[in-house]
Amino acid sequence: MHCSACKHGSLVPTRLDNLFSAHRCNHCGGHWVLIDDFVTWKQANPDTEFEAITAVEDSEDSPMALFCPMSHTLMRKLKISTDTDHRLDYSAAVGGVWLDKGEWPLLKSMGLASCLNLLVTQEWQNRLKQSQTQANFGEHYRRKFGDSTYTELKRIRDWLQGQPNKAELKSYLLADDPYSTKR
Ligand SMILES: [Zn+2]
Repeated sequence: MHCSACKHGSLVPTRLDNLFSAHRCNHCGGHWVLIDDFVTWKQANPDTEFEAITAVEDSEDSPMALFCPMSHTLMRKLKISTDTDHRLDYSAAVGGVWLDKGEWPLLKSMGLASCLNLLVTQEWQNRLKQSQTQANFGEHYRRKFGDSTYTELKRIRDWLQGQPNKAELKSYLLADDPYSTKR
């Protein structure tokens, strides 16, 4: 197999971190991992803890869409977390992930290495989109209302949401004069 990321190297069979089957590019140092191989290894070694890395040397991230080295179809770019813009290249056709050099250490540093197989699922991707949307809305309100007003408003809202008679409380709060019979 040829490396579709750097287009110069060959993908050579190896074991990533001496753990599970993968292929490593002998030119750019990226890894090609079949999710099935990862899951098989994980099922046999459910208690393996990944070494906790804190500092990650610069991990690369190919900006262009890559071709799957096995099926030669275009791979999808998948976000892995709302904390990073880093994206994985995933071939749904064969269930394989391309890890640019440094991306595996990045996953370990973020505590995501042990759920490599989950990162590529629709469920994970949907959840990411949802929390990204929430973060965008939060940012929007913060800008609109100002920092301290938004923080206070959010505190009141959270409290109100937890009250059993919140509809009554809301109309009290929003009435021009709650002490008059006119509303
Ligand atoms: Zn390569």
